[in-house]
Amino acid sequence: MMSEIDTDSMVSFLHRDDVEKRVSKMIQEGKTRFALDFSEIYDHDPDVATTLITNHKDLGWVRDCLVDALVRVRCPEESLERWKAVLCNLPHTTHLRKLDTHHIGHLTQVSGIVVSTSDVQPFLLQARFICIVCDREHLIPQREEKLKWPGKCDCDGRKFTLNEEKSDWVNSQVIQLQELPEELPPGQIPRQLTVRLLDDLVDTVRAGDRSLIVGIVRLRPPRRSGRLYDYIMEAEHIQTMEAQDVEVTEEDLKKILELGARDDLEELLIDSLAPTIYGHREIKRSILYLLIGGVSLDEVDVKIRGNIHVLLCGDPGTAKSQMLTVTSRVSTRGLLTAGKTSTNAGLTATVQKDTSGRFVLEAGAMVLADKGVLLIDEIDKMTNEDREAIHFPMEGGTVPVAKGGIVATLNARTSILAAANPKYGRYNPYSTVAENINLPVTILSRFDLIWILKDTPNVTEDGILARHILNIHQKNGLGVRPPVPQPLLKKYLAYASKIQPKLTREAVTHLENFFVEMRAVVAEGAAVPISARNLESGIRLSQARARIHLRDEVTLEDATQAVALMHMSLSQVGIDATTGQFDVDMILTGKPKSLNDKLNALLQIVRAKSREEAIPEEDVVSFTLAQGWGRSETIKLLGVLMKDGVLYSPRPGVYKAVQPIQ
Ligand SMILES: [Zn+2]
Repeated sequence: MMSEIDTDSMVSFLHRDDVEKRVSKMIQEGKTRFALDFSEIYDHDPDVATTLITNHKDLGWVRDCLVDALVRVRCPEESLERWKAVLCNLPHTTHLRKLDTHHIGHLTQVSGIVVSTSDVQPFLLQARFICIVCDREHLIPQREEKLKWPGKCDCDGRKFTLNEEKSDWVNSQVIQLQELPEELPPGQIPRQLTVRLLDDLVDTVRAGDRSLIVGIVRLRPPRRSGRLYDYIMEAEHIQTMEAQDVEVTEEDLKKILELGARDDLEELLIDSLAPTIYGHREIKRSILYLLIGGVSLDEVDVKIRGNIHVLLCGDPGTAKSQMLTVTSRVSTRGLLTAGKTSTNAGLTATVQKDTSGRFVLEAGAMVLADKGVLLIDEIDKMTNEDREAIHFPMEGGTVPVAKGGIVATLNARTSILAAANPKYGRYNPYSTVAENINLPVTILSRFDLIWILKDTPNVTEDGILARHILNIHQKNGLGVRPPVPQPLLKKYLAYASKIQPKLTREAVTHLENFFVEMRAVVAEGAAVPISARNLESGIRLSQARARIHLRDEVTLEDATQAVALMHMSLSQVGIDATTGQFDVDMILTGKPKSLNDKLNALLQIVRAKSREEAIPEEDVVSFTLAQGWGRSETIKLLGVLMKDGVLYSPRPGVYKAVQPIQ
């Protein structure tokens, strides 16, 4: 029981000037939920503070003290009843994984990421029932999950109707809170908790928010008969948390600056990124740049992303998946997922009806990894919905949602490191990236860097690789010590990514030249002009490199290295296998320019010769033989045109062109 002294103590606490100031501000903002900071009360009176947590059900007397303070600031009397005193900033946060039956009925503080939010529905606080026999009213406060009916009327009647108009309702919303990705034990399915928000807490959080919630843990009875209950938290107070930054002490800073001054810095960091994976230095360099990122520009008229996206495509058995796993360990906010996710929300977001029929907005992996790194394995297996929706967040950093009455914009400022398998098992060097990977060109072109990992036999390389693998096994993986220990590497990356480097004149000129050169290569008869996207990639990568070297300006060397990396990546995916020329068409249209030229020439021949009658295959071959094409090549190209739907075969062995509509 509370003693008089405690109340006095509370009154004197609420007498402080800043409390009155806060109350005045809250009245102006139309808010009525007065949050009492536990640590502040504890400083004022430890006994009162601890009693408040255990006696949370009886915060009524605190409310009385509060009303006293309200009267002093001349709060309108009629609104006094709506005021509620709640506690926040409790000393202990319960991990969602540790929530159990001991918490039932107790005031508990939990943290997590909001994965879904429902639409807003009315919630019954106090029901007014009318006896259908004698019209007598029965007021029943609703405390439990199930609607509580009156027992028996004074007239012995047992049938009632609910007077909706005269009952007390409040806005309500249900959210799902999930364990923070970085707190999730490896390989575990994240735990979730249903949280109900009432009144002025409704619509204060959105999917993807990291929240610290104080509330009372209750039970939700089973939908059908049974004894298995669900936990539900009734929220009292919600606080949105910024992502936890890596703490950098003065001692750390000394080590960071020392490391940053070394000539071999970049190579050291690359060696430390994934010491158990042999080779692939350029891929590791790209990942290093991805982890740091470029400078994002977020102004009203210009929005340029700083996030760097990297795609690894390659044969099974190559190091793609390991690259993803090691990167998830190094990044402070890394979320590992698969293209075909286990949740309905997939990679972006979804709106659907839950079991109780209300619309629920569920955040996908890109939203949950906001301001972090999303590692997508087998991105080629993503759903059709994601295929259509992923372009926007990759470029704009948000997921717009407008479905089932829910309109929202969720943040997804996420860097993507994705892995994809070749469509036909092995990477075919004679066809294009777009043909090799089951991803549309529009998504491919949003990756700043694409790398192909081929499992080609090479005697010398294989010998080194075998020794490397054996070495790891002999030493149980412990022998491969990274030159920069992982905790320091994380701190280094966190520190470096805060730098805002400015482009120097020389760097700009170099990047511009690269852009102009690329445009010139593509300009020759290309159907699709090259966009400014490649220039932006160049800027991002050079900014990332400047950050790695702890510089606040992007030098010519940064730009040169960034362009070199892009050239290397483009030559892996954009090289025209038939002419050996650099061909950006391949990424943009999915076909090398020389192939496009040949297909076009062949189509013109068939079109000209098949106006009246279908042209026999032998005739086409003799026409192309005259131009120096081989027979099998012609037949293969005819197949491509058939597949593309510009030719058809009215009967075997003859072709006709689909005539353009006049
Ligand atoms: Zn009655």
